[in-house]
Amino acid sequence: MTMITNHMPTAELQALDAAHHMHPFTHGNQLSAKGARIITRAKGVTLTDSEGHEILDGMGGLWCVNIGYGRKELADVAARQMMELPFYNTFFQTSHVPAIALSAKLAELAPEGFNHVFYAGSGSEANDTNLRMVRTYWAQLGEPERNVVISRKNAYHGSSVGSGSLGGMSGIHAQGGLPIPNIYHIDQPHWYAEGGDSDPEAFGLERARQLEAKIEELGAHRVAAFIAEPVQGAGGVIIPPDSYWPEIQRICDKYGILLIADEVICGFGRTGNWFGSQTYDIRPDIMTIAKGLSSGYAPIGGSLVSDRVAKVINACEFNHGYTYSGHPVSCAVALENLRILEEEKIIERVAHDTGPYLQEKWNSLAEHPMVGETRIIGMMGSLALTPHKASRAKFASEPGTAGYICRERCFANNLVMRHVGDRMIISPPLVISKSEIDTLIERAWISLDQAEKQIRDEGLM
Ligand code: PMP
Repeated sequence: MTMITNHMPTAELQALDAAHHMHPFTHGNQLSAKGARIITRAKGVTLTDSEGHEILDGMGGLWCVNIGYGRKELADVAARQMMELPFYNTFFQTSHVPAIALSAKLAELAPEGFNHVFYAGSGSEANDTNLRMVRTYWAQLGEPERNVVISRKNAYHGSSVGSGSLGGMSGIHAQGGLPIPNIYHIDQPHWYAEGGDSDPEAFGLERARQLEAKIEELGAHRVAAFIAEPVQGAGGVIIPPDSYWPEIQRICDKYGILLIADEVICGFGRTGNWFGSQTYDIRPDIMTIAKGLSSGYAPIGGSLVSDRVAKVINACEFNHGYTYSGHPVSCAVALENLRILEEEKIIERVAHDTGPYLQEKWNSLAEHPMVGETRIIGMMGSLALTPHKASRAKFASEPGTAGYICRERCFANNLVMRHVGDRMIISPPLVISKSEIDTLIERAWISLDQAEKQIRDEGLM
């Protein structure tokens, strides 16, 4: 077989990809017919594809490359760790320095009362851990009937059986027999799409109070936990009204149920603090982490566990774990990533410098005739496409058609911006500079113009 390298013609790589590689969340035959875009290298915030295009990555990979691409320090640490101890497990009363060091560092960075970590290989796995952990917590306390977890429609917590059930995405639930029993979903705090004529703050309260209603309906003695992302990411960067989180916190406190904050996207600087929970003054009992923990350089996820929960779980044998729980290379890479985030004051920049700059520029896109609203916190933003601003109208076409057209225009203009339905979203590397932000916004504006023209020409608005 010939060597397959970056230097092969794109069409040949695409053909091999189509023949053998099944892609996540992808219609395989449609992609095969079109051919995948092949990314060959990346540096900073810029991807290079097999055709030599230089593309500004407005999504930080999959919301994860917080420190940007091409940091040699992480490669060096990984190589060193691979030579010293490429693998050892953390089962059977064993530990190793990378897991110990990363755990201690996470305990230092996390909010007060968070001193424990349970590792996984990904966010999905970590949320599976959380599901079993909260049920085990209550069983250990003599309340095994407290096994219900409440989540939200249009939440994303992963795509394994447990985490896909915790999530509230209808497309995921439609395949493979999800959700599993004893997981319930309340409505999301998505004012733009679902708030009608109501005041956003009143709407936020109303949506939060659905949690209380659900707890009352099921019986508090049955409810183990509520899980939510501080800001829904994959659902479309849905930033809740300010009234939402304080009310959710009040309800969790009132009923004593555990609160799981899924920080897989919001963690490690995305919202301008180490954790989204800090941005929204949330006091969770467990935080799911992944993505920005290693800036995507190595797969790692985990659960940051509060003392309240750890005390109970540590008092039994928790029959749970993954071969790669606390993988030494991933832990070493994550630790180096945290060092860079901290020493280069990247999160401070998101909070006080480049973050506010991006926010101002992003919000200027609201002047575009096809943009119904812009929303942004830290460096995660979204905008709604609409044929009619004042009424927040939807397009006549199948939902997502306009968004897809816009996304394709962005690609053609060398910008990765994703669409969720007819909402466009960004989550660039946190190291993006002001001039790169200017480029992102220029390309977004041009793409919006071109998409608008195409949508009109095709009679979709
Ligand atoms: N939780 C959230 C909030 C996520 O955004 C994601 C991934 N997009 C996950 C969990 C799942 O993480 P992974 O893909 O690493 O399994």
